[in-house]
Amino acid sequence: MNDFNGVTLHTLLENANIGVVIHRWDTSVVYANPTALRLLRLSHDQIIGKTAMDPQWRFIDEASHPLPYDNFPVSLVKRFKAPLSNEILGVIDSIKLTPTWFMVNAYPEFAKEIDDSFIIVTFNDISDQKNLFSFSEIVDNAQDVIIVTEADNIDKPLGPRIVYVNKAFELLTGYSKAEVVGETPRILQGKDTDIEELARIKKALANKEAINTTILNYSKTGHPYWLNINIFPLKNKYGEVTHFAALERDVTSEKYYAEQLESKNKALKEIKENLEGIIHKKTQELHDTNKKLYHHAYFDLLTKIPNRRSFTEQAIKQFSRGKREKLYVLTGLLDIDFFKKVNDAYGHDVGDLVLKEVAQIFPSFFRREDVYGRFGGEEFAFCILISEQDKAFEICERLREKVAHKAIELGDSTKLSITVSIGATVTFDDEDAKLEEEIRRADIALYEAKNSGRNRICINNR
Ligand code: GH3
Ligand code: MG
Ligand code: MG
Repeated sequence: MNDFNGVTLHTLLENANIGVVIHRWDTSVVYANPTALRLLRLSHDQIIGKTAMDPQWRFIDEASHPLPYDNFPVSLVKRFKAPLSNEILGVIDSIKLTPTWFMVNAYPEFAKEIDDSFIIVTFNDISDQKNLFSFSEIVDNAQDVIIVTEADNIDKPLGPRIVYVNKAFELLTGYSKAEVVGETPRILQGKDTDIEELARIKKALANKEAINTTILNYSKTGHPYWLNINIFPLKNKYGEVTHFAALERDVTSEKYYAEQLESKNKALKEIKENLEGIIHKKTQELHDTNKKLYHHAYFDLLTKIPNRRSFTEQAIKQFSRGKREKLYVLTGLLDIDFFKKVNDAYGHDVGDLVLKEVAQIFPSFFRREDVYGRFGGEEFAFCILISEQDKAFEICERLREKVAHKAIELGDSTKLSITVSIGATVTFDDEDAKLEEEIRRADIALYEAKNSGRNRICINNR
């Protein structure tokens, strides 16, 4: 061994952290440094003088298949008389069941006579770095599209440059890897790609930030498809962003179904709103109809005051109230005098008008709790509670006067006055009092009033 600037090469080999084995041309070992012995787990005696044929060597290739003797690094160098670089192989020994993986280099050192030549083999343990599977294989064969671009020169028209695309990219876009490496992803954009989304991507790239977006891209043949793109920066060991990786998924069908669903939901919402509108309208109509029906059932169409049915129902209750509150019940019938003559002289319409005008007096004349109504034809009835029997006459008289004093305008400045006759009856705390009976007695009184000259009242006292 030569000295080299004071460094003894032998000492260097003894201390080097790389295995070094020197073979003669017949492959027998003449030297193995301590690192080689340690890595191969052999003693000096176990290795010196052994050839490549020695059965103790159990090498495997990267696919874990036994390496035939002819393919041993030393055999290859001997056969091809050429160096071998960065060959990966595994060594299996009796101690360790899992292989130890080595990165192997070997070269021939020729002498004048070939048999005097040497083969030098160096190797180091790469077991820690050798993975059981290849990440690049995963990326290459992933179903999702993967693109890697440079992080610099992102501007139009050429940047950023594509440095890698996987097979899914080729399948989706129709571009081959060779066609797009060096190109910009802008070649995938087209007329309907959202410009605002592109600006958002550009901003994220400029800030070296990750971004997620969904945009429209076009294949080589111009076919559009929606892509969900997840872009994230890749950093080198100094923390500098050198590349961007984009994970992309074709979401055309998802987007199509989402849009379909949205438009269906919109249509359903409209139908629902229409239905609600219709239901609201119909409910309102029903409500109005019910109101009208109620009105028709209980109110007189011409005069708009309670009809006979309504009067009868309410008047019956007056008798219980009168008994309960110890009040007198005054039941009266009011009949227009000579009404037939009104009809005959002025016509039926004027007759109707007169009926309405007389009816109008009742709501203002009577109190809220009083009961009255159109009893039929030109006849009206009332049933009210009074505190004293004598008040009956006074009330009926006031009502008669009120009608008599009313001037009914006929439109042509003619004013018509009419009179009424009233027959009434009063009862007090009468268990047997019946409306029917009271009406009958009031009718007798009315008959008397008519017979004694009309425009007067007659009370049929018990
Ligand atoms: P009296 O003083 O005896 O009561 O005489 P009168 O003419 O008022 O009584 P009569 O029973 O002879 O006539 C009642 C008339 O009232 C007959 C009928 O045509 C008329 N009449 C009944 N209902 C209506 C109505 O709704 N409108 C009009 N215009 N006339 C009616
Ligand atoms: Mg009558
Ligand atoms: Mg009459």
